[in-house]
Amino acid sequence: MDTKIEEYRSSLNNASSESILEFFIDRYKGKIGLATSFGAEDQVLTDIISKINKNILIFTLDTGRLHQETYDVMQETMKKYDIQIKVLFPENKDVEDMVTQKGPNLFYESVENRKQCCFVRKIKPLKCILSQLDVWVCGLRKSQSITRSSLDKIEYDSANGLIKINPLADWSEEQVWEYINKYRIPYNKLHDRGFPSIGCAPCTRAIKKGEDIRAGRWWWEPPETKECGLHKVGNKLIRKRNI
Ligand code: SF4
Repeated sequence: MDTKIEEYRSSLNNASSESILEFFIDRYKGKIGLATSFGAEDQVLTDIISKINKNILIFTLDTGRLHQETYDVMQETMKKYDIQIKVLFPENKDVEDMVTQKGPNLFYESVENRKQCCFVRKIKPLKCILSQLDVWVCGLRKSQSITRSSLDKIEYDSANGLIKINPLADWSEEQVWEYINKYRIPYNKLHDRGFPSIGCAPCTRAIKKGEDIRAGRWWWEPPETKECGLHKVGNKLIRKRNI
C-alpha cells in the first residue's frame, strides 16, 4: 500500500482538488465516499463531487444531538444538488444502554463519559461504513491547526485500513469561503454566529474573537483531551473541526 500511496502522491502532487477527486472517483467507483458534517469544507467537496458524479456516496453521522441549523443545511444540500445523503445513526441499543445507565448529559461528567458518547454516536457508525470502502474523502486543511500542518493530500489511514484523501489540504479559509460565495453553496448558519467548528449541540458553542477555533468544542475539558478519535496524521491523532 505504501508504494501505491507514493505513486498517487507523485502523480497528483500538483493536481487541483477537482483532478484529485476525478482520479479517485474514476479509479474507486463504488468504493469511495465523502464523510460530511456539513461544515464549510465539506460543503465545498459536496459541490465539487456533485459536479463530477451525483452518484458518489456522501454520508453523514447523525448523532441524534445535532444543531437544528445542521439539519437545515443537510436538507438544503440534498435539495440543491438533488442527491441522497446517507445518514448513519448509532445503534439504538448502544444509545439506550448508555443513556439509561449514565443519563442524557453524561459527557459533562467526565472525559471517559464523553469519549464513550463519541464512540457510541460517532466512531462506531463511522468505522462500520469505512470498513466497506477503499477511499475516504475528508475536508481537512493544513491551516486549520498546527497539528495539521504536515497533512498530506493522499494518505493511508492504517487505523481504518483505507486510503484517506484530503483534496482541500492546501486551501486557506479564505479560499473556502470564496468558493462558497461564488457558487452560492448552502452553509451552516452557525458559521455566521461565531461557530467555526460545529459538532453536537450540547458540546459546541460560539467562540470569542482571538480564541482558538477549537475553543468552542468540549469547552469544559482541558485542551489535551479534546479529540474524538476520528482522524490521524502520521501516527498523531488530530481533531476534525466539524464532525
Ligand atoms: Fe456525544 Fe458530545 Fe460526542 Fe456528540 S460530541 S457524540 S453529544 S459527547
